[in-house]
Amino acid sequence: RTVYLNGAFLPENEAHVSIFDRGFLFGDGIYEVTAVLDGKLIDSPLHMARLERSVGEIGGHLPISTDEIVAIEKRLVEDNKLTEGVIYLQYTRGAEDRNFLYSENLEPTLLLFTQAKTLEHVAAVEKGLKVKIVPDQRWERRDIKTVCLLPQVLAKRIAKAEGCDEAWMIEDGFITEGASSTAYIITQDDKIVTRGNGNAILPGCTRLAVLDLAREQGLTVEERLFTVEEAMAAREACLTSASNFIVPITSIDGKPVGDGKPGAMFKRLRELYMDNARRTAV
Ligand code: PLP
Repeated sequence: RTVYLNGAFLPENEAHVSIFDRGFLFGDGIYEVTAVLDGKLIDSPLHMARLERSVGEIGGHLPISTDEIVAIEKRLVEDNKLTEGVIYLQYTRGAEDRNFLYSENLEPTLLLFTQAKTLEHVAAVEKGLKVKIVPDQRWERRDIKTVCLLPQVLAKRIAKAEGCDEAWMIEDGFITEGASSTAYIITQDDKIVTRGNGNAILPGCTRLAVLDLAREQGLTVEERLFTVEEAMAAREACLTSASNFIVPITSIDGKPVGDGKPGAMFKRLRELYMDNARRTAV
């Protein structure tokens, strides 16, 4: 694989980051994951806007423009002959002797690599995913897409140990989001419910696209808090993320959601999303 590191396209085994990199020592960094379908970038402007916002929120600056980043992504897709998979981007504040405080003139680290992966025709679409409820143990700025992912690593490990595919995190009795996805329920009267954006969740790019499409179709979207009990009583549940698009959730803590099968609203949203994703791919 060819990867991109700080201005250079290199074979992956020749790309090296300093042991003093603040991403490594402090988790002082931001990341993005963009899906690739048919060799094209999905929801690219949304990911670039969120990247700029996250970097800004930690007082950092991107070393190059987002247009240049998109050009790098396209070149990696081409050089690696990637038709389907993801592009991972990581920005860190840079490398210097270990100190909580950082120098203002530090050169940031920018790394991008591709990962080939089947995204579209996956078993989850037909079978659904199983979700495990866990406490949300993260910090209070979850709107920043930081590389500090230890709480999510541990949440996913617990979910896996229980035979589940994803963890849904709860705080004060309400579901915040999945460990690496946005959480939704569909009520018995066909309303799409998901938590509103704010500091408690990451503003999902796939979420933004799906909710816009749903509203365009005249579907009812309620951005509000919801409890585990409400989720258990829902007709359907689903999740979105860049690498899953939208997939159904068929069980929560071992109990079936609705009839335990992917529902009609999920199918409609998936079709709308995939259609739009292809139409707007770059
Ligand atoms: N919430 C969290 C905590 C995530 O880590 C992710 C993606 O990794 C999402 C939501 C979904 O965001 P997106 O749709 O932009 O991938």
